[in-house]
Amino acid sequence: MTARRYVQATAAVAALGTAWCVAFLTVGAGTEAWAYVFVPIAGGLAAASVHRMLRAGPGLDPVARRFWRAVRLAVAVISFGYAWLAADMLAHAAEARTRSMPVPAAACVIAGFLLAIGALARVPVVATGGVERWRMALDRTIAFLGCSAVVWYVGLAPMLSAREPWSRQAMLIDGLGFAVAVAAATKVSYIVGGPVDRVAIRLIAAAGGVPAGVVAVLAVRFGYAGSIPAQAIVMPLAPLLVALGVAAQGRAGRRPRRDPARVGVLLPYLAIVAADVPLIAVAFGAPLRWPVRVVLVTAVAVTALVTLRQYIAYRENDRLLWNTRLQEERLQFEVSHDGLTGLANRALFRDRLRNALATTGTAAVLLVDLDDFKTVNDLLGHGIGDRLLVSVARLLRSEVGDAGLPVRVGGDEFAVLLTGDADPEELAARLLAALTRPISEHRLLVQASIGIAVAGPGATVDSVLLNADVAMYTAKQRGKAGVVRYADGMREPVLAHMQLGGELRRALENDEFRVVYQPIMRLDGHRLIGVEALIRWDHPTRGVVSPAEFIPAAERTGLIVPLGRFVLRETCRQAAAWLAEFGPDALQEAGLNVSARQLHDPDFVAEVTGALADSGLPCERLVLEVTESAVLRGQQVSRALHELDRMGIRLALDDFGTGESSLSLLRAFPAAIIKLDKSFVDGIEIDDGRPAAADARQAVARAVIQLARALRLETVAEGIESAEQVAALRELGYTVGQGFHLAEPTDADGVARLLARQRALTS
Ligand code: C2E
Ligand code: MG
Ligand code: MG
Repeated sequence: MTARRYVQATAAVAALGTAWCVAFLTVGAGTEAWAYVFVPIAGGLAAASVHRMLRAGPGLDPVARRFWRAVRLAVAVISFGYAWLAADMLAHAAEARTRSMPVPAAACVIAGFLLAIGALARVPVVATGGVERWRMALDRTIAFLGCSAVVWYVGLAPMLSAREPWSRQAMLIDGLGFAVAVAAATKVSYIVGGPVDRVAIRLIAAAGGVPAGVVAVLAVRFGYAGSIPAQAIVMPLAPLLVALGVAAQGRAGRRPRRDPARVGVLLPYLAIVAADVPLIAVAFGAPLRWPVRVVLVTAVAVTALVTLRQYIAYRENDRLLWNTRLQEERLQFEVSHDGLTGLANRALFRDRLRNALATTGTAAVLLVDLDDFKTVNDLLGHGIGDRLLVSVARLLRSEVGDAGLPVRVGGDEFAVLLTGDADPEELAARLLAALTRPISEHRLLVQASIGIAVAGPGATVDSVLLNADVAMYTAKQRGKAGVVRYADGMREPVLAHMQLGGELRRALENDEFRVVYQPIMRLDGHRLIGVEALIRWDHPTRGVVSPAEFIPAAERTGLIVPLGRFVLRETCRQAAAWLAEFGPDALQEAGLNVSARQLHDPDFVAEVTGALADSGLPCERLVLEVTESAVLRGQQVSRALHELDRMGIRLALDDFGTGESSLSLLRAFPAAIIKLDKSFVDGIEIDDGRPAAADARQAVARAVIQLARALRLETVAEGIESAEQVAALRELGYTVGQGFHLAEPTDADGVARLLARQRALTS
């Protein structure tokens, strides 16, 4: 039978008792001895229901088990006592009216109540320390005394002085019933979410108190006439309440735990009020001399005022506690959330991920990195950059919803932790789609690269994050605004690439870099007019590493600044040396590549001036090659470029024609030279007899030379690999070029040999 069935069964017995009682009182059915049979039957059922729970519930906490075992025994013993009483009454039905409870039966009932009180006393309370324990003991004693005063005044004392000759046993039992009620009631406030359910304890308090109270009132007011409904109707309620308590304990695990009850704190105040009420009743009800009455009233007034004062102090305390708690919560929030966006921070993210891996073993991480956020910051300032981050955070929060935890990992890097069964790829697609619309009040367009890692068996926080990082990195490399999900084998190349940053630092310290120079020649007569400095890395194990491979890493890590400084100093020194050796006509210009990050460096202009001064190379001999994307990097860069131009240093637009705004750039940028990109030189010479096709191939080269003429700019054609290309370029009007066909990049000695040969030819 389930706990519910037991409740129904005890309720049915109680209802039967009521029905019998009504029948007896109205039509005088049967003998009054029957009034005594309902309690033991209902009691037996209640004991059985406790028994069933103890048998069926392996999940029961040991403390709760101990408690319910004592309750089972108490209910069984009490029921036995009442069964004895019922048997005695039925056996002597004729004298039922005058018989008092047999002593063994009363002894059983009294023992049962004492057992119940003992069980309640052993329910542990949630005390945090010694002082707390004392405070609770005091509170409960106060409450106990207060309640007892009321019980005494309204129950026991009237019974004692009643006209009917009440047996001592009955009074003792009633008193003990109250004691159970008071013990349970004063305990319930301190057990919070303890092993014994609060509701169950309350029901047991009611099982002791309600019947005892009603029985006392009935007995005092109606004498013997009250004892029939007391036995048949009121007392069977006690087992019913116990059965309900069992059901409540069964549900306890499924109820959310609540905060410590406030009533616990209020209990002593209520007790004082409870004790004061009979006192006032006595003061005005009984015939007393007025001085005594004054003393009584004053005593009540004083206790009432002290209570009030205490209560106010308690409220104040409570308010302070509340404030502290709020503050704690705020602090807690601050250490686990990002100050700017309010999203969870890296620490909380790792924590949650660790939890998810430990509990379910499954989790998916999306790493979202904004593309070119640095540009926004540089171009528009940090204020707008911050606002953009806030907008991205808002977008993330609304797209993710309840499906996961959005995080700001740091800088322009965000993440989402998915612990449910939301599809990470679908979310990534949604995020990218949302980012195609301009965001923030500045209507900015940002893109993001997203890496996805799904935790496999045995995954750790670090491995999942590394995988997400690798996937994101791969997404970036594959072109921006993309999504990549981590797959096996993805790590190695990416890690090698990531390592490059670290290796570069070491290489710089170990002098593994050197500069080579590619001659820039006149297309007619192949005479050297200048050089372009190109950096080379002699890697100890990998051999010569191309700049195309490590310059991006150097830019990302900022190492391009010292690296560029090295090329600048070296080139200036070398060019000055050649000029000294071969005379002022030997070399018109020495060029070198400057990356965007260098132009951003506020010291860059000073460094160029310093290198020129130290080497003695005249300003007009130095050419700085910059790419379009570098030039488009905002105020600071533009200021630096104009300043260099004013100093007489010439600026060349490298890889011209490959960018998006080459033409408009020419107006704003003080360029002196245009370097036609190799892609427009490739295939320029092909003559397949179809003039239109050749025309299309030459279109850009033609346009660029016309533009250069109009703007009075010099040109250099890059990447010339054949004599046919030279011819085609000359045909178009180009006079200067660079390429493997003319001369490959070589070390300084190679250039020196070339210069020496040239001098020999002309002299
Ligand atoms: P860039 O400035 O356009 O340099 C020209 C690149 O084309 C060089 O490659 C050069 O070796 C190569 N090249 C020259 N003639 C030919 C040819 O006929 N055919 C082919 N296929 N290639 C030719 P490199 O040295 O690998 O440099 C690649 C890029 O790395 C450079 O492009 C430049 O943007 C960057 N870079 C090189 N050195 C430095 C440096 O010191 N600082 C910075 N910031 N960037 C550098
Ligand atoms: Mg260049
Ligand atoms: Mg180039």
